[in-house]
Amino acid sequence: MKEEKYFREDKDILPLTEINLKRGWSCNIVKREKAYYEVLKRIPNCDYDKIYQLSIGIQWIFPADEAFASFINSYLPEHKLNGYRFSYTITIPNFYERMQFELVVAATVHELTHVYLEHPIKNAEYYAQDEQEANDLVNKWGFQEERDTEVNFFHNRNISISFDER
Ligand SMILES: [Zn+2]
Repeated sequence: MKEEKYFREDKDILPLTEINLKRGWSCNIVKREKAYYEVLKRIPNCDYDKIYQLSIGIQWIFPADEAFASFINSYLPEHKLNGYRFSYTITIPNFYERMQFELVVAATVHELTHVYLEHPIKNAEYYAQDEQEANDLVNKWGFQEERDTEVNFFHNRNISISFDER
């Protein structure tokens, strides 16, 4: 039986309009797009509703050359945001297309939790706290397994800096 709390059929109403491909039309985004839907599908309904409310200010950039998944936000004039304070941009770099699917899901949900929590970017004072909050929410949303896979992956590759700095 379907778990009502964690799945809703209409959860793909949000997505593709906000995906921005301007930095590489020829890029393959199959895995990242699949991960994006996987994340939306599994977010608890009440939290999904908040993200949906924020979604007018979220822009997804999938084909990006950055080394890490990341999010940025910026203040935009009110009239450009229909009243929302921030515009968020989430970047899932190209190399994720070659990664294990669970890692793509982990990166996607992690960045989305920052948006949900309305974190400011590069807040040095609260960075560790923001990361902790984000990761706690990743677990609360039910992505513990993907997160464990991610932690192990970066740990085993001994490139923890890439994990810490996104
Ligand atoms: Zn983070």
